[in-house]
Amino acid sequence: MQQINALKELLATPKKIMITTHHKPDADALGSSLGLAGYLKKKGHQVQVITPSDYPSFLNWMSGNEDVLVYGPKTDAKARQITQEADVIFCLDFNHLGRINELGEYVRVAPATKVLIDHHLQPDTFADIMFSDITAAATCEIVFDVIRLMGEEHLIDVPMGECLYAGIVTDTGSFRHASTTRNVHLIIADLLQTGIDICKIHRNIYDSYSEKRLRFLGYVLKDKLQVVREYNTAYIAVTAQELKDYDSQTGDTEGLVNFALSIEGVRFAALFIDRTEAVKISFRSVGDISVNEFARNHFEGGGHKNAAGGISYLPLVDTVEKFVDLLPLYAPQLTK
Ligand code: 5GP
Ligand code: MN
Repeated sequence: MQQINALKELLATPKKIMITTHHKPDADALGSSLGLAGYLKKKGHQVQVITPSDYPSFLNWMSGNEDVLVYGPKTDAKARQITQEADVIFCLDFNHLGRINELGEYVRVAPATKVLIDHHLQPDTFADIMFSDITAAATCEIVFDVIRLMGEEHLIDVPMGECLYAGIVTDTGSFRHASTTRNVHLIIADLLQTGIDICKIHRNIYDSYSEKRLRFLGYVLKDKLQVVREYNTAYIAVTAQELKDYDSQTGDTEGLVNFALSIEGVRFAALFIDRTEAVKISFRSVGDISVNEFARNHFEGGGHKNAAGGISYLPLVDTVEKFVDLLPLYAPQLTK
């Protein structure tokens, strides 16, 4: 409650606001940023969303997408200036500044008041005002709750509502994860009340594969999926050459790891993608297996209990070997 009063006071007069979110934004990261941006603009603030990297084209339909500044060598000076001159910086859907690459240092030294809105475990304490709720299904859920606590739910219109819905539907795995609470469904009911078109959102996010992406999925499931029955584990490792062969675009590997977890009996799944500069890893689990801990302890990562990510600077083959060699250590959880 104290935090909301501090936010009310902060936003009582027009401010220059920068909003940022994690590397390779997903629907929750971008949806919460653009949903919040829509709200803050309505309140008369000057708002700029800056992402630390590009993001999948299946998110381009979101309202405000055309005004996003994507960080890169060409936009570095502008991003730095905006960050330095902002009165307020909102950090959405990430828990430590390392998640926003070069922008992390700019945000750290910026004189702005920093506001964190996030649902990841073990958040750092770099922000002045924190809305961290690790039980929330999505950052979009917290953004909705914050707007409601501000007493301004009526400002949520269709474009903002569609951004918030997108984050909630994706981060809950289409309302299937344990994080899908009564509050989540009540928020969805309120968003539906605004007139959002959920069929359009689902089509845009889930039924917008390029032909190459779908064929890549087929290839990976047929030839690349490995199942380690002994440890109820399945994993997929994709080489840089395979990404090239299928002309893989940002977002084309999203959701792949969930197929590995969809096998009966499998409780732990991993996806390794050779991004050349490093191997990017996604982990998923069911039940008590904490992939947040696993990613933190072995792959410089983190996230949530059942969905986390990490990175490896070893070659792809060695990274996979390291992973497979770790499984016996976790035998009690994996084989329970
Ligand atoms: P995904 O596997 O979909 O990229 O990410 C799953 C979850 O883990 C997301 O909540 C994401 O923010 C988090 N995550 C992904 N990669 C990393 C990482 O390298 N470090 C940390 N701390 N979290 C990550
Ligand atoms: Mn999220």
